[in-house]
Amino acid sequence: MKERREKIGLLPDELGRKRDDLFKKYSIKVNIEPRAVMLINTPAVKVLYSIFIRKTRKNVFLTYNPVTRALDPLVCQGCGKSITSIYFCDDLHLLCSICSKKCPLC
Ligand SMILES: [Zn+2]
Ligand SMILES: [Zn+2]
Repeated sequence: MKERREKIGLLPDELGRKRDDLFKKYSIKVNIEPRAVMLINTPAVKVLYSIFIRKTRKNVFLTYNPVTRALDPLVCQGCGKSITSIYFCDDLHLLCSICSKKCPLC
């Protein structure tokens, strides 16, 4: 009975060793390297908008993005964020609503 209990007590150790052996035996090393790069080039349409602000003309380019099938949003000249609502300061800087309160460029 005592012998049996000792044997049972040794089982977790043995199991651990067996598992390590199997791990060593069947482990494979995989090296992954990039083999090809794909450059996707799509035509885009640039649309020139002329905006008149207090009789002054301001040209704004909008890009039609064929991937999203929409016009790319403009970029605030003050903070660089994408904008869908545009504002202009007295010097006609293109701004977002936050920058329009105090133009960072003027
Ligand atoms: Zn801004
Ligand atoms: Zn300004």
